[in-house]
Amino acid sequence: MSSRAEAIAAINKKKPLARTIGLNEINSIDVFGKNVFSMSVMKKRLPKDIFKSVQKTVENYTKLDSDIADVVANAMKDWAIGKGATHYSHVFFPLTGATAEKHDSFLEPDLSGNAIAEFSGKTLIQGEPDASSFPNGGLRQTFEARGYTAWDVTSPAYIMDNPNGATLCIPTAFISWTGEALDKKTPILRSMQALNTHSQRILKLFGDDSQKVVASTCGAEQEYFLVDKYFVGLRPDLQTAGRTLFGAAAPKGQEFDDHYFGAIPDRVLAYMSEVERELYKLGIPVKTRHNEVAPGQFEVAPVFETSNLATDHQQLTMVTLKKIARKYGMECFLHEKPFAGVNGSGKHVNYSLGNASQGNLLDPGETPHKNAQFLVFCAAAIRGVHKYSKLLRAVVATAGNDHRLGANEAPPAIISIFLGDQLTDVFEQIRTGGATSSKLGGMMNIGVDALPELPKDAGDRNRTSPFAFTGNRFEFRAVGSDQSVSGPLVAMNTIFADSIDYIATELENATNGDMSKLNGAIQDVLKKIIDEHGAVIFNGDGYTDEWQQEAAKRGLPNFKTTPEALPVLTDDDIVALFAKYSVLSKDELNSRLEIYIEQYNLKIAVEAKTTVEMANTIIYPSAVRYQTELADSCLKMKNLGIDCDDSVLTATAGLIKDLKAVTTDLETLVAHDEDDALVEAKTNCEKVLPAMLKVREVADALEAVVADDLWTLPTYQEMLFIK
Ligand code: ADP
Ligand code: MG
Repeated sequence: MSSRAEAIAAINKKKPLARTIGLNEINSIDVFGKNVFSMSVMKKRLPKDIFKSVQKTVENYTKLDSDIADVVANAMKDWAIGKGATHYSHVFFPLTGATAEKHDSFLEPDLSGNAIAEFSGKTLIQGEPDASSFPNGGLRQTFEARGYTAWDVTSPAYIMDNPNGATLCIPTAFISWTGEALDKKTPILRSMQALNTHSQRILKLFGDDSQKVVASTCGAEQEYFLVDKYFVGLRPDLQTAGRTLFGAAAPKGQEFDDHYFGAIPDRVLAYMSEVERELYKLGIPVKTRHNEVAPGQFEVAPVFETSNLATDHQQLTMVTLKKIARKYGMECFLHEKPFAGVNGSGKHVNYSLGNASQGNLLDPGETPHKNAQFLVFCAAAIRGVHKYSKLLRAVVATAGNDHRLGANEAPPAIISIFLGDQLTDVFEQIRTGGATSSKLGGMMNIGVDALPELPKDAGDRNRTSPFAFTGNRFEFRAVGSDQSVSGPLVAMNTIFADSIDYIATELENATNGDMSKLNGAIQDVLKKIIDEHGAVIFNGDGYTDEWQQEAAKRGLPNFKTTPEALPVLTDDDIVALFAKYSVLSKDELNSRLEIYIEQYNLKIAVEAKTTVEMANTIIYPSAVRYQTELADSCLKMKNLGIDCDDSVLTATAGLIKDLKAVTTDLETLVAHDEDDALVEAKTNCEKVLPAMLKVREVADALEAVVADDLWTLPTYQEMLFIK
């Protein structure tokens, strides 16, 4: 029996799932936040004044008083040990996009030969992981390789269970000894500060001087694929690259739309339930789950949280999705395009701004006052996205996402804004001199009448737009499924901060303390923004060729690949933007560019090597065996004097020769080595990837002719449909 047939037999023999969760014992609601050292746990366990101080730090993003750290650490340790923890870990988020952890035991030997549990305030606040192997893009010389982790008080500590114990996890920022950000968390925290500072100025103009911290909010919808582990075991490409580098299309794909929102298979549903339960324990509010468009594709989405917390929770969600899948005999793939010919996976990052006194600042209100404020924040988005569209493109530029963007299922590489007809109409009227009416007939004027009721979820939701207004938030749809949401959030926070700063300055100057001038000033600044930046608004079909041409006419950048998109990170205007708001220094941007290009090159190198290896050692042998079988048969028939149709043999032999030739070409290319990383990236993009595709084309053609029992690679049909 072929290894493929064995895999299928093994899957078919699987026993039906037994219940893995004692649902009667504890219900999900009670589980929520069970493993989190949350504000309510702290309230119970900390002296009142200490708790107040921590609360102030969390709510206002201020520094934690180091005097109280020992008390907090002690309470945290007792709580964690009570929950079975033996170790603690400073969790951090290096620039590779991964989640990194190093575990230390609580145990400290004492002089009498016994051990006591130790965890000081100093250990809580600062760690020094020996993490010199993480890429730092030139930020650290080896002689100063120290990196420090610093507790981010705004993201609560939590406990990760494993079958034989538990670990107390402390979310931390990872910085060099000179204070440069080596991670994805630090810039989020910095950008949140900038956003708050300038949002306060706008709120003050609108009469809200409460100084309640304005934070951005993020709800990230995560798409993923599940494939049975027996198949993954036979696919080196899935193992090393997270995507299939070979595979002819299955006769049936997603054309029936029968998977989308369909009944979730039992095994998958049991898996999802356990994922959700684990996430609940960590205080992650996952809310929706469903089948996605492609067979074998699913989605999970949380209720939104502030961006900083949402970023940590998103990382934990990805880790948990992968970890639990193995328990159910499956692998979870977060790659942007694991299977050619069916939809890839994205991560829609829903984004808004809000605070405790105003609620959601991108929610059009019922009063004219609120509406004017809403239009100001909305205009900030229009200006920011137009001015820095290339930045938004750069932060979603990865090797995996290049396969998805512009592939008729995901937004194109052109960054535009979808506002919907009504809101576009409002801005159009502002442009042509004062909005006096709305499309729906109601009266509309800045500060005079109410905005028309905007549908929260416009019926014709435009799926083709990379940056869409969806009623009370923006949805950034170009983000890849495997990406940390940090980069996109840092970019959005910073471009919003910049535009809000700009608008606040205009309004402050125009009113100069005389609030009777506010409405006129708003009218003027909105008009100016829409005049200068309205070109970024596009409500049409982003998948069409006409849009590509139209966008070029409008001067919107269209960077189709990562090597084109990434270098803008160090353009003068981008460096100036991040410097102005103290989010990233020039050195920090350089380091990011260097690391992301390197990541791109490494990914493609692995893919190319895997392609060569699979072509040579899996596909070629299968094909040659079949060729031999056909040749033997032909020979025997000729010996018997029977006429033999050798067309399949000839075709197979031809393809085998082609396979060898294109594989050799790819091998030669793989051996290339450029000194300059960007040149290397361009070679990878323009030469290596096309050469890989050529190998794939021939191999996929062979898959269509070679006898099924000799073909050892699991097929698309099997991987996508057998659950
Ligand atoms: P839809 O079904 O239209 O995609 P959902 O209500 O399911 O809308 O929301 C999708 C995602 O958007 C969820 O993760 C949700 O938390 C998030 N979201 C909703 N409101 C906001 C907001 N104000 N800020 C950030 N994310 C939000
Ligand atoms: Mg969605």
